[in-house]
Amino acid sequence: MEIDSLRKLYVEELKDLYSAEKQILQALPRMAKKASNELLQKAFQEHLEVTRMQVERLDRIFEMLGKSPRGKKCKGMEGLIEEGEDMMKEGADPDVLDAAMIAAAQRVEHYEIAAYGTLRTYANQLGLKDHAQLLQTTLDEEGNTDKLLTRIAESRVNRDAEVR
Ligand code: FE
Ligand code: FE
Repeated sequence: MEIDSLRKLYVEELKDLYSAEKQILQALPRMAKKASNELLQKAFQEHLEVTRMQVERLDRIFEMLGKSPRGKKCKGMEGLIEEGEDMMKEGADPDVLDAAMIAAAQRVEHYEIAAYGTLRTYANQLGLKDHAQLLQTTLDEEGNTDKLLTRIAESRVNRDAEVR
């Protein structure tokens, strides 16, 4: 398909983001399992639940568009997750591993924030107000998760990783 309009670009980018969220759904349980810090473990578990709702929002948007969400693989997210998994495999000390997982997770959140922000803006431009609202809700959730991860890193995890 030729992407010759903002509307088509919007749908393609939505598919990319759908694939990204699906990949995150696979990665988060592993990260929760490996987390030593209780707050971090809880944050990953909660974000898994939140991510399920985010996928449902995207499903609703695709329903409204009368399109399938399938058919695209988000290579950006694939790379981010692969990098994170490489770190996790390197057998770091548990506290250092927590710090590394926060670093990886915040890269993921920032990627999502960029994607949702752009798509929300496209939806508004295309006059799709109900889409824009759904995308904004998820954008806010990703922003909150990013801030929570910063708090966990700065209040505990980074210090624990330093004091060896
Ligand atoms: Fe998400
Ligand atoms: Fe997220």
